[in-house]
Amino acid sequence: MDDWPRILRGSLRTPEQVAAFFGLPVGEIRKVARHFKTQITPYFAGLIKYKGDPIYRQVVPDPAELAADSGLADPLQEDADSPVPSIVHRYPDRLLFLVSHMCAAYCRFCTRKRKVGDPAKINPRYIEDGLDYIRTHKEVRDVVISGGDPLMLSDARLEFILRELRTIPHLEILRIGTRIPCFLPQRITPALAAMLRRFHPLYVNVHFNHPDELTPEANAALGLLADAGIPLGCQTVLLKGVNDDPAVMRRLMQKLLLARVRPYYIYQTDYVCGTGHLRTTVEKGLEILEALRGWTSGLAVPYYVIDAPGGGGKVPVLPKYVQAIDDKQVVMRNYAGETYVYPQTPNEPPPVPPKKSPRRERRIIEPCYDIVNVPPAG
Ligand SMILES: *Cc1c(COP(=O)(O)O)cnc(C)c1O
Ligand code: SF4
Repeated sequence: MDDWPRILRGSLRTPEQVAAFFGLPVGEIRKVARHFKTQITPYFAGLIKYKGDPIYRQVVPDPAELAADSGLADPLQEDADSPVPSIVHRYPDRLLFLVSHMCAAYCRFCTRKRKVGDPAKINPRYIEDGLDYIRTHKEVRDVVISGGDPLMLSDARLEFILRELRTIPHLEILRIGTRIPCFLPQRITPALAAMLRRFHPLYVNVHFNHPDELTPEANAALGLLADAGIPLGCQTVLLKGVNDDPAVMRRLMQKLLLARVRPYYIYQTDYVCGTGHLRTTVEKGLEILEALRGWTSGLAVPYYVIDAPGGGGKVPVLPKYVQAIDDKQVVMRNYAGETYVYPQTPNEPPPVPPKKSPRRERRIIEPCYDIVNVPPAG
């Protein structure tokens, strides 16, 4: 019944396999693959409709990755916040626990391009040190289990890690970050979901970047996790030629909600070496955010964040809705660009909004008793 090991074994792994499958010059692929891990599951390759489409751009090696000035190896300076190889501890009460170097497929824009797929950098033998670090740091109440992809581990291995973590009294919530429901949804089995649900409160953050990734298989995988009571979030990376389009991003967010996944973050692509051709501007990200807020369900609007180069952590970036603010009033614009005023003076008549529809103007200057339907005296 479990089909996923067979599907995974059928992945395109060697430069020869990738070049032959997509009809590309093998020399070029070989050069890129020497620096950056390459692998594509046959399932995900099957979603590609044409060369260079949004699915293709995420996983097929591109000679542009070798541009020397395309970024930094570790722009977030994770290695500086890494007390032991399997831990990145940057925030006061939570940390990343890297437990697997493998992914089902390798994203060309990965933040940890310098590490993923390399067992010398993320290795099972560092897991004990990581557990010890968490045990001795009582301020840690939230562990984000990451990698690589934690769901590349066997059920038994993952269960061991979760069980060990659950013996640590100061840990409140556990999270798993994974792209498996997108790359290899067949790996999400009823047995896996039944195992995971024993470790609640457990959250899973998945990673989808394009509406075409929400296939019937992916929806079934997400359904198994949701039925196990696991709150699902999604981390999406803003990518040029993939989802740098308000209509595409809106559809992605809506399809995530359909699959019971609450969009959590849209990331500005990190300033990572070998990803310059996939990065777009922050203005584009703001345009996308403005095209979400108000125009579709508020549930479909995630935070847009830049993970600050230098290790500053995630910084939320918001369109400017507040235009002026003082003791008397807040002048703001709504999603459609109309201006409204919120009065901050309790006992003075509210200022007349500078510009709005006649219907709304009438409402805001009506006295309170009309609004609550108390008939005027006399
Ligand atoms: C993103 C991240 C976290 C988790 O951050 P949240 O905003 O709580 O999701 C924790 N540690 C590091 C190093 C991170 O990059
Ligand atoms: S699945 Fe995540 S860790 Fe793996 S290559 Fe993609 S972004 Fe990197």
